[in-house]
Amino acid sequence: MPTPTKSASDIICTIRESGHRVTNGKRAVAEVLISSTSHLSVDEVVQAVRAIEPEINQSTIYRILEEFEELGLVVHSHLGASAAVYHLAGQNHAHLVCDNCGLTQEIPATTFDVMEVQLREKFGFNLDRHHVALSGLCATCRENQEK
Ligand SMILES: [Zn+2]
Ligand SMILES: [Zn+2]
Ligand SMILES: [Zn+2]
Repeated sequence: MPTPTKSASDIICTIRESGHRVTNGKRAVAEVLISSTSHLSVDEVVQAVRAIEPEINQSTIYRILEEFEELGLVVHSHLGASAAVYHLAGQNHAHLVCDNCGLTQEIPATTFDVMEVQLREKFGFNLDRHHVALSGLCATCRENQEK
């Protein structure tokens, strides 16, 4: 499990140490990810990066996100039917998404401790707790249905 990245300069350091080129675009993407507290869609990343670096084009930002993922700096996850969302690696949570209202919730990854062991022992399966959200009904929608 990678340790959480603390600042944009940590990210820049990792890029440099991996022998990759450091560009203004990469700095901007790093800053956007650091300053965000939530999950960002690709479009949201593009918008926020362009506020810093207006000249940068969309495909460059896509490539930077891919590179950051390869370097283990960034992870994406799928929250329901909407496009993938991105955030910095090292955050130990899993996601729930409500099928009815679309609410997404972060839950501690430890929620899956028992399940992870069972999946490995019974099926030889290695669970990825973060990549895909669990779908269902949130507390509010469930209550409304029970009325
Ligand atoms: Zn994916
Ligand atoms: Zn997440
Ligand atoms: Zn709901």
